[in-house]
Amino acid sequence: MGKVTGFLELDREVESYRDVEIRIKDYDEIFSGTHNLDQLQQQGSRCMDCGVPFCQSESGCPIDNLIPEWNDLVYNNEWRDALERLEKTNNFPEFTGRVCPAPCEGSCVLGLIDPAVTIKNIELAIVDKGFEEGWIKVRSVSTRSGKKVAVVGSGPAGLAAADELNQIGHSVTVYERNDRIGGLLMYGIPNMKLGKDVVNRRVELLRKEGIEFMTNIDIGRDISTKELQSKFDAIIFSTGATKARDLPAKNRNSKGIYPAMDYLTSNTKSLLDKGYADKSELSAQGRDVIVIGGGDTGTDCIGTAIRQGAKSIINFELMSQPPADRSESNPWPEWPTIFRVDYGHEESNKVFGQDPRHYQLLTKAFVRDSNGNVSGIKTINVELIDGKLNEISGTEKTWDTQLVLLSMGFVSPEHYLSEDAKIDTDERGNYKAEHGDYSTSKEGIFSAGDCRRGQSLVVWAINEGRGVANSVNNFLMNSKRAG
Ligand SMILES: Cc1cc2nc3c(=O)[nH]c(=O)nc-3n(C[C@H](O)[C@H](O)[C@H](O)COP(=O)(O)OP(=O)(O)OC[C@H]3O[C@@H](n4cnc5c(N)ncnc54)[C@H](O)[C@@H]3O)c2cc1C
Ligand code: SF4
Repeated sequence: MGKVTGFLELDREVESYRDVEIRIKDYDEIFSGTHNLDQLQQQGSRCMDCGVPFCQSESGCPIDNLIPEWNDLVYNNEWRDALERLEKTNNFPEFTGRVCPAPCEGSCVLGLIDPAVTIKNIELAIVDKGFEEGWIKVRSVSTRSGKKVAVVGSGPAGLAAADELNQIGHSVTVYERNDRIGGLLMYGIPNMKLGKDVVNRRVELLRKEGIEFMTNIDIGRDISTKELQSKFDAIIFSTGATKARDLPAKNRNSKGIYPAMDYLTSNTKSLLDKGYADKSELSAQGRDVIVIGGGDTGTDCIGTAIRQGAKSIINFELMSQPPADRSESNPWPEWPTIFRVDYGHEESNKVFGQDPRHYQLLTKAFVRDSNGNVSGIKTINVELIDGKLNEISGTEKTWDTQLVLLSMGFVSPEHYLSEDAKIDTDERGNYKAEHGDYSTSKEGIFSAGDCRRGQSLVVWAINEGRGVANSVNNFLMNSKRAG
């Protein structure tokens, strides 16, 4: 611990995003791109080097990042050593440093009496400096085991698994049905939150280190699992939770109602393919947009619609507005369920003069015009009583809209692959496998990430990718199959 009194002397200072008025005119990252390293060193000194560092415990960081160690190293200006510590537990800190909601900060011990240490800012600064200084390089693999592993799905779970197994010496091929590698890091989380150059930079490193990437190949359709099994010693399914929850209300089939992922993917693809935002029927330009459902996906729809030039944006939430501070039923070190203003909300406040969120609203029906286009949504207010949502009569309302984005989460993976592989699914429809073991019901086939645990976070996908790599390695080393 570098400075014993750091937390007493200094207030938490968070790095600010780019100015709203400037950033909504482009799709560049919301982050400023530069770090005030002196300020971050001071912020690192606020860490108390706790005897029991809850930040890296189970309620905190899912990948057990060695947070107090790198806080101390940063305070002492030892950035390269800090990077070394960070890389011990996190394959992709440049992703988590940008998009992680930072459960570590939610469980930081300092948070009991004062605002938490700025762990996420420090993580990002360490890895950004690592790339700038050229400390992060291609790590060549000297010996190969002769074992071959196929990874199906190139999101953070698949990439972390591929990275770990490749570094051990196994030969890894990653199959991706999309035209670009990265899963939701590429098509899902928009450019503003995670630049695609950042994703591609890591993919290129992994490629140079020996991982083979195959795009536009849908396993279970273009290539069967059986064929993969004949070519590889082990297979990992990391296909994500891609089945979106639908809203089967009246007139759902009207034109202008889209799953959020279709909307976000189309915009990112258009930006990457053609260099400009989508001008197709999925564009929010000049439209009254309603986003149904919140979370990261809802916020990303709001941020994208603002950049496309939406006329207005409303966001429906079914549940009530969270409290400003932790409630008694949500004590430290749990993740604080509190009212947050994310980047999209901040932008909406600036552009439209109000927060887009409206709470306790249930969609009863869509309204459509004579051409079959959505023109409105009928809602009623609801309240939660004894765990049940009750409609409040007299609160019916119709909202004008020409573009509706459904952002109500994801149910499970799609099932054509599990059917093709003949593996069991659990009661929620996820590929059945235990956390920590990751074996499916078929020997030699493993599963990890959102397709196993349900929709989650990038940092949990990395946790699962690292874990499944360990299980696969044990399986390969004990396998009698010839290499
Ligand atoms: C819009 C949005 C915003 C989000 N924002 C955040 C955030 O800010 N912070 C955060 O921590 N998390 C966020 N998340 C969640 C996070 O992105 C996911 O939890 C994480 O990406 C899951 O990783 P994964 O590797 O399990 O799957 P995914 O990232 O979903 O990747 C799965 C990949 O498998 C491919 N695939 C599927 N089936 C096949 C097949 N049969 N053959 C070949 N390829 C296949 C898919 O095309 C996909 O590329 C967000 C999610 C969404 C949708
Ligand atoms: S819980 Fe907070 S103060 Fe304690 S070691 Fe972790 S970051 Fe430092």
